[in-house]
Amino acid sequence: MPTTPLDNEQVLRLKQDFPLLTESQVAGHPLVYLDTGATSQVPLAVADAERDFTLHHRAAVHRGAHTLAVEATDLFEDARATIAHFVGADPYSLVWTSNATEGLNLLSYAMSNATAGSNGSENAERFRVGPDDEIVTTQAEHHANLIPWQELAARTGASLRVVPVDARGLITPQAVADTVSERTKLVAFTHVSNVTGAITDVQAIVGEAQKIGALTVLDACQSVPHMPIDFPALGVDFAVFSAHKMLGPTGIGALYGRHELLNALPTFLTGGSMITEVTTEHARYLDSPVRFDAGTQRISQAVAWAEAVRYLQAIGMGRIEAWEAELGRQLARGVTEINGVRLLGPEPGVERVGLVSIDVAGVHAHDVGQLLDAAGIAVRVGHHCAQPLHRELGLTASTRASTYLYNTTDDVDRFLDELSRVRGYFR
Ligand code: PLP
Repeated sequence: MPTTPLDNEQVLRLKQDFPLLTESQVAGHPLVYLDTGATSQVPLAVADAERDFTLHHRAAVHRGAHTLAVEATDLFEDARATIAHFVGADPYSLVWTSNATEGLNLLSYAMSNATAGSNGSENAERFRVGPDDEIVTTQAEHHANLIPWQELAARTGASLRVVPVDARGLITPQAVADTVSERTKLVAFTHVSNVTGAITDVQAIVGEAQKIGALTVLDACQSVPHMPIDFPALGVDFAVFSAHKMLGPTGIGALYGRHELLNALPTFLTGGSMITEVTTEHARYLDSPVRFDAGTQRISQAVAWAEAVRYLQAIGMGRIEAWEAELGRQLARGVTEINGVRLLGPEPGVERVGLVSIDVAGVHAHDVGQLLDAAGIAVRVGHHCAQPLHRELGLTASTRASTYLYNTTDDVDRFLDELSRVRGYFR
């Protein structure tokens, strides 16, 4: 693996792997893609891997004795191992889901199943929640890490407590310590904010949760694609992430869980492939992770996702993290130098990933997005599925620019240059 830092020249060479980025024109301009926070682009190698599986190896996994089925099963399980190792875990700790959202819903529903006493786990005590218990999440969450906990509270009678962010929109360990209590069963929080790009001190928050024996759930959607991650080293009990934000296909994500916890967790979806024995009255389930693989799985997507992971590993996650931190600093400094532009979240000197959201005084985010689009620059506008955080910041919407390993400092300059003209159009 190369150890030299990434630079513009190397990034321009990498960009050649992404046809959409090199070939697309928008409104007569070469595309500048600054919306990886929503979804990333895909290199040829990943698209080829999915096509190759579909054309040459496609079969149902775990079921057939024929050669093709064995081949497909091996590719599928190798993919699980590749992705698990990428986050420091073993394959028994990685459950396939459709995306991060489904991973969080899986946990939420499995916990209500534990509470109702159904679905096959004899060791589900840790997951039972009732009217005497609290579930804790934070004000900075994507709705995917908020609504499933609201719903769990509604189904079980538990109380939902929400950790407030500080004046800069950050989740602090102190605020977590002030919110949790002996009644807290679970603390769910984000690693990197999809609005501010700020990075949470995961280990300190896990420490607070462990003091009171609560489970921890990490939303790692915006961290796994952008930095080296080791879930066991971070100490979290569960974590979720999505392939489509890290050069992989849509329609697949993963739930990481400590293996003993996954084995004690009641099932969510039931049906074919996840059982050992079924009678007309009753079913017994396999161990995790396959007991969460109900029905035919996303096989070609898993294989392609593993290819995406190999692509990232060949570049090196440390190098990607360092490059994006540089882009993040350029973005944060650049936007604060433009009159009438407010940077959301921490000030430019504070560590963040290559993502910023801004408010442009007197101009609605949708108008900002449209003007940038007319110059070929793709950004995200709206509340970014984080209405509570926007409300706290006094906004209904913002404009977000988010980078990845295929963005150059020129891309950021083009964005800043166009942004500096936006208010002029509305005078
Ligand atoms: N959490 C965060 C922080 C995100 O940025 C996103 C996606 O935007 C999600 C959760 C949901 O991811 P998905 O739509 O892939 O389930």
